[in-house]
Amino acid sequence: MSKKNDPRTVAANKGIAADTAFGAVTPPIYLSTTYSFEGFERARAHDYSRTSNPTRSLLADTLAELEGGEAAVVVSSGMAAVDLVFSGLRSADLLIAPHDCYGGTHRLLSARRDLGHFDVKFVDQGDPKQLDEAFAASPAMVLIETPSNPLMRVVDIRSITGRARKAGAKVAVDNTFLSPALQRPLLLGAHYVIHSTTKYLNGHSDVVGGAVICADKSDAERLGAWANVVGVTGSAFDSYMTLRGIRTLFPRVAQQQETALAIARYLEDCPAVARVHYPGLPSHAGHAIAKAQQSGFGAMLSFELSGGLKAVRRFVESVRLFTLAESLGGIESLVAHPPTMTHAGMDPAARRAAGITDGLLRLSIGLEAPHDLIDDLAHALKAAGPATLARKVAR
Ligand SMILES: *Cc1c(COP(=O)(O)O)cnc(C)c1O
Repeated sequence: MSKKNDPRTVAANKGIAADTAFGAVTPPIYLSTTYSFEGFERARAHDYSRTSNPTRSLLADTLAELEGGEAAVVVSSGMAAVDLVFSGLRSADLLIAPHDCYGGTHRLLSARRDLGHFDVKFVDQGDPKQLDEAFAASPAMVLIETPSNPLMRVVDIRSITGRARKAGAKVAVDNTFLSPALQRPLLLGAHYVIHSTTKYLNGHSDVVGGAVICADKSDAERLGAWANVVGVTGSAFDSYMTLRGIRTLFPRVAQQQETALAIARYLEDCPAVARVHYPGLPSHAGHAIAKAQQSGFGAMLSFELSGGLKAVRRFVESVRLFTLAESLGGIESLVAHPPTMTHAGMDPAARRAAGITDGLLRLSIGLEAPHDLIDDLAHALKAAGPATLARKVAR
């Protein structure tokens, strides 16, 4: 029993054929909110589903094993997971977060700072000078998000966790963009992994959920107890669905990233496209780090139309297979325009300073045939108009 299974085996097989009641091969879903006591003062493994639930526990154990952690806490959304991981911070504690973190994370951490719950510094973690200054301020925790959204910037997890450990800080990595199929931050020294399971783990765009996976069992117990106190634990139904999604995580992601690379290469050669941001391209600034710390480059990419907003409008009105929508990681291909969608809440000057131009589009690559997706892009790029071509030539 001590031999660890390959994560692919864990994803496909965890909890299979373990049912003692009927020998069900697929683990059953337990919707019951409450569980009988065996007798006076004799509680069973579960007593009330906010506190613990067999279906949610199986998902938590699966996630812990996939990430190489000791235990996991399953919560009702990715945001609940982000909030939970920093719930132990006090007013004097400093958190170092990426300047280009997920928009909802930026909003949450800023709100907690404004309420005086803890202090936050947003820094460019790819800039050694800013990192030096941040670590000189004795942070209690560091949040890492790599690759970042939407520009796919990559930072070195092992290097930052090494510095954090020396400074006595704990490190949480938001691993939503890659999933444990492609990156396992706990093995690179992180203390916590955060997931929006809404994305690749569930993978079918029909569950909103989150999880925190811990390297240390006592951390998981502490966070699990707090999730029960504030009532953000995940539902049995969502846990069942997410476990079902995880069964096919590895083949989904493998196929999706293969298509993403083909699309990134196609876009890179396209005259209407000014820039492509995909860590799998040797031209990407984070290519070498991504190659070293990831086991694949993922299925998210972004690119810039040189024709700006006008070209963007024509492009998104012309795609037929790509759907204009937020979110990512599902079996369907999506296109998003960060300046007017995911990052619309950001101050325009700050947005431009962060490199998010008006012509930027983000793609989440699904499981459609690569040539159909490329045909769709070709058609939409053509519709985006000769203006983009002219600008490219002028550049
Ligand atoms: C979506 C997302 C979140 C938030 O997750 P929800 O499930 O929407 O609450 C956090 N971090 C990243 C990187 C995300 O993509």
